[in-house]
Amino acid sequence: MPGGVIMAEPTFGVIADDFTGATDIGAMLVRGGMKVVLTIGPPVADFDFGDADAVVVALKTRSIPAPLAVTQSLSALKALRQVGVSRVQFKYCSTFDSTPDGNIGPVSDALATEMGSDLVVHIPALPINGRTVFKGHLFVGNALLNESGMENHPLNPMTDANLLRCLGAQLKGDVTLIDHVTLTTGADHVRAALAGSGGASHVIGDAIDEADLRVWADVLQDAVFFAGGAGLATPLAQRHSDSKGGVPAQPSDFGTALGGNTLILSGSCSKATLGQIEAFRKAGGAIRQIDPIAIEAGEVTVEAFAKWAGETLTDKPVLIHGSASPADVLRAQTELGEARAGEVIEGALSKLAAMLAPQPHVARIIVAGGETSGAVVSRLQIAALRIGSEIDPGVPWTLALDATGTPLIPIALKSGNFGGEDFFVRASLEDSL
Ligand code: ADP
Repeated sequence: MPGGVIMAEPTFGVIADDFTGATDIGAMLVRGGMKVVLTIGPPVADFDFGDADAVVVALKTRSIPAPLAVTQSLSALKALRQVGVSRVQFKYCSTFDSTPDGNIGPVSDALATEMGSDLVVHIPALPINGRTVFKGHLFVGNALLNESGMENHPLNPMTDANLLRCLGAQLKGDVTLIDHVTLTTGADHVRAALAGSGGASHVIGDAIDEADLRVWADVLQDAVFFAGGAGLATPLAQRHSDSKGGVPAQPSDFGTALGGNTLILSGSCSKATLGQIEAFRKAGGAIRQIDPIAIEAGEVTVEAFAKWAGETLTDKPVLIHGSASPADVLRAQTELGEARAGEVIEGALSKLAAMLAPQPHVARIIVAGGETSGAVVSRLQIAALRIGSEIDPGVPWTLALDATGTPLIPIALKSGNFGGEDFFVRASLEDSL
């Protein structure tokens, strides 16, 4: 330990059932003043968390069989407790993505039992994104969950907005409601209502706005376990910062802390990303497109892209994209097969990341696309991310760490639809263009 300083252990842990959900709650905790490390899978025993207050473990358990989700979540809990975490949230999507088999019910039940908690409070609401819960019913904007489009979800169609019924179908025990009327009477009344909740093992909590979430944060700030969306993260983190009595931690600006230039790698073909690429081009940015058909035919090589990028990055940012219009994507998929076309682009972009990241002029990397981010993270052997300040809502700068907690490189992982139109221009430091 440097200079014999006693480092505080992280006390709050989150087990998230998917990667973007993990980044989302990580950014929300940072917004409330916590220092947060996100680990990809459970952390290893000797991982150096530095001065982190909270650890978010990103799992991929949302749509796997319930028994497997339970086992993986319990392993994550064990790892979190070993690093000193004493309070835990199970984080799931604010649209309650699950089926009658699980996994929200079985996973939250198992984690609660392990934490010695006989009552699980669920706060799914995320009012900032229009997800509210009233009288136990989940709304997305003005629509009930089952009329919001979520009823057509390919993996977990949500055909009932009544969360007591949804959760009840996944559990043996009873589910009760703490409704909005009780919330308006304040935290003490909510605590009393919880204490008298008649032997139920799970409670759904209404919350329609930030004021409701603040009441829940008062109620749950010392709870050893609860479950829900990312809505409570910021108010809970604020209470944590207040209890430490100091000034809340300012999120680190990992993105701009170093000199050098930004490498942008994009595999996302979403409308938002295509617009961001166009804006970068219009602003005079250096761009190359990778055509998967040409790569597969050996007409161009990843090494040639790496050579151009390495030279160009000595004085400006570079964007390399597989991202293409729907017509071009269809052409590649028809020629190569859907899976292979994707693999070629993910393979090329992640190889570029590995070749260019060690070069001295590459100060930071931005990756666009969820799957593409996954490919880059695994190729660079990133084990964890220290969450920094947000570039745009939901897209923080992070510092990538290896399996021992040693910094690798600042990186921002943007899922397809996120970010304003000038995202790449702003994030790659406008003035260096
Ligand atoms: P998003 O977050 O926008 O969904 P993803 O990275 O998750 O982005 O998914 C985009 C997929 O499209 C990736 O598998 C990527 O490899 C693939 N892809 C990118 N460019 C092309 C292309 N030109 N032709 C075919 N597939 C492509």
